[in-house]
Amino acid sequence: MTEISFIIPCYNEQENIPVFYEKLLKEVSEIDFELIFVDDGSEDNTLAVIKRLAAADERVKYLSFSRNFGKEAAMIAGFEKSTGNYVVSADADLQDPLNLIHDMYKAVKEDGYDCAGTRRVTRKNEAPLRSFFARQFYKIIRASSGMNIVDGARDYRLMSRPMVNAILSLTERNRFSKGIFAWVGFKTKYFEFENINRTAGETKWSFWALLVYALDGLIAFSAMPLYFISILGLFFFFLSILFIIFIIIRTLVYGDVMRGWPSLACIILFMGGIQLLCTGILGQYAAKIYNETKKRPLYIIKESK
Ligand code: UDP
Ligand code: MG
Repeated sequence: MTEISFIIPCYNEQENIPVFYEKLLKEVSEIDFELIFVDDGSEDNTLAVIKRLAAADERVKYLSFSRNFGKEAAMIAGFEKSTGNYVVSADADLQDPLNLIHDMYKAVKEDGYDCAGTRRVTRKNEAPLRSFFARQFYKIIRASSGMNIVDGARDYRLMSRPMVNAILSLTERNRFSKGIFAWVGFKTKYFEFENINRTAGETKWSFWALLVYALDGLIAFSAMPLYFISILGLFFFFLSILFIIFIIIRTLVYGDVMRGWPSLACIILFMGGIQLLCTGILGQYAAKIYNETKKRPLYIIKESK
């Protein structure tokens, strides 16, 4: 029986994979493990590199997607394939310190935790604006979803089999893993580490990609934006009633009806803007419902071992 399954999503990581493999071997040589690389439709030689490792070491397995389906899908595919009592997800770029594995393993195996998570405590070498938005995002999503989504938590974690099965039992297509990890519950111990730069290659996250990811997560885990627009609507409804009363009284007292068209234009523009915004938010939820009802698979596997 395999003790630990390592799930490594890889998208264009040809330089990193051999280094990762060597480092991992050093850390876990005495544990019975399997190493599952999930090639997320890489355009470089990632798959070839993985296949070479898999041919030489029978503990190395892989899945290869027919195209790029994203890291979330790659992680799920790996979880589904995994057979270990414990499952670890880690990045191929060595930004996740593998020497933490021992402590994480001990926390779950001996100290009664179901999951050992990790979080970056510094955001060194990151653009300040990016860090700022990231922190705000965590604040908003925590407040609006009521779930303890930890700031700076990485996807690098070690989980017990029951927790992995719980994650796999969620069938939604919009996989916001940070939310899903929090939603399934289980006792999690967090290990902290300083930010480490990628060994090679580039991050796949542009600022826009992160923004879209954040909004998707918010919509997936909270109906707060919908409440927000309802309350906004209510507020403007009462405001307009007050305004009507004000106009009536002013007309009765002063008898003047023609003044004030610039303010009127402003109000019309303002209300039009608010309405578009609200329709947009509604549309986001509708789009999510549309995607969920299609029930497409999260990924397509081209080959595997
Ligand atoms: N990754 C993936 N599919 C993608 C993007 C990324 O499988 O579409 C993998 C990538 O190869 C790496 C991990 O997910 O192992 C984290 O990606 P990245 O380093 O770009 O993210 P960051 O560390 O900057 O958050
Ligand atoms: Mg990275």
